[in-house]
Amino acid sequence: MSSTNLTRSEAAERSNLITDTHYVVDLDLTEGGDLDHRTFSSVTTVTFTATTAGSTFIDLRAEEITSVTLDGEDILSSAVPGDGEGRYDETHGLQLTDLSAGRHELTIVAESLYSTTGEGLHRFQDPVDDEVYMYTQFEAADAKRVFACFDQPDIKATYDLAVHTPPNWTVVTNNTVDTASGADHHAGATTHRAIVDYPLSTYLIAFCIGPWHHVTDQWTGSLTPTAETADVTDTRLVPGGEMTVPLGIFVRQSLAEYLDADVIFDVTKRGFDYYAEHFGVAYPFYKYDQIFCPEYNMGAMENAGCVTIRDEYVFRSAASHYEYERRADTILHELAHMWFGDLVTMQWWDDLWLNESFATWSSAMAQTHATEYETAWVTFNNKEKAWAYGQDQLPSTHPVFSGANDLVEVDANF
Ligand SMILES: [Zn+2]
Repeated sequence: MSSTNLTRSEAAERSNLITDTHYVVDLDLTEGGDLDHRTFSSVTTVTFTATTAGSTFIDLRAEEITSVTLDGEDILSSAVPGDGEGRYDETHGLQLTDLSAGRHELTIVAESLYSTTGEGLHRFQDPVDDEVYMYTQFEAADAKRVFACFDQPDIKATYDLAVHTPPNWTVVTNNTVDTASGADHHAGATTHRAIVDYPLSTYLIAFCIGPWHHVTDQWTGSLTPTAETADVTDTRLVPGGEMTVPLGIFVRQSLAEYLDADVIFDVTKRGFDYYAEHFGVAYPFYKYDQIFCPEYNMGAMENAGCVTIRDEYVFRSAASHYEYERRADTILHELAHMWFGDLVTMQWWDDLWLNESFATWSSAMAQTHATEYETAWVTFNNKEKAWAYGQDQLPSTHPVFSGANDLVEVDANF
């Protein structure tokens, strides 16, 4: 059994056993502005149903676990029956043995590490003004670096999220945040709360924390009901009538003077219009924020309603038409993932190729038909397709669909 290198068969076994999962996550980042603090307190309460009697494990990569309570009983110090070994190590996760069929409640209190590698909760100090910012990156399986979870795409869950911070910090997450100053945790701290009341994979949860510069706008659209959507009852998905989605852009304070929010919002809204019309389903979440993040490893990440993007896309000097086109491509690619990837998700990472290909295809379509970048397919041909032909000449070439037996293969496929 492996947690850090979860296999496809272990994931399938676990999703057969675990259902109706809800997480209450509480992160204490009040000392996070001090880089000498290497860890933060992470408290997770998971309620879930075991469909039958059995044993499994939950994932967590923490510096230290201080307590584990399962159905009111402290289980951290008890050995796992049979092997005499302890309950937790990072490689194997936390063992949940001999669960009875039915509802369970598990609370795990841990100290987790701030990251400087872009995995888990990445922390950055801006050399311009010394302000500290943090953001998470969980795909493919790094939510476990921040909170205890069944960290695989097909165990979707709902969430109550709380983050405690210094008073001047903003928290951006998957839904609108309620902020209260108060002494419920630490005097002088601010508590930011949000709920995710739709089923969402753990890898699509995100937190972006810091004294962000923030700009807002909104998208309003409407959809004509079709035969395909006639039986949809979720009010977020029902076509017909108008729908308004709050839009936000966040950058660190030192980049605020360079931010061309109007241009970014314009591309974003064109994407909303195009996708809402052609996917036949209005935007599936409640709001849409784009957070431009420093020291970012990739292009961007499609966290539901909380997309993170590398902040080199906030241009600090005159940019070429091509650079604007590539930024628009990234913006529209991530937006397409809200429908394909986030609302509808692959069961296991084997189908990552489909997830990514669909977003790339959607982006080129939206660029061609809804923006000034009408020659997006020419760019696709010169860029992505030429890249693919180059890759295909190498010994490492592989079929478009290649199975991923475990997380190490998943990372290689990325
Ligand atoms: Zn993508």
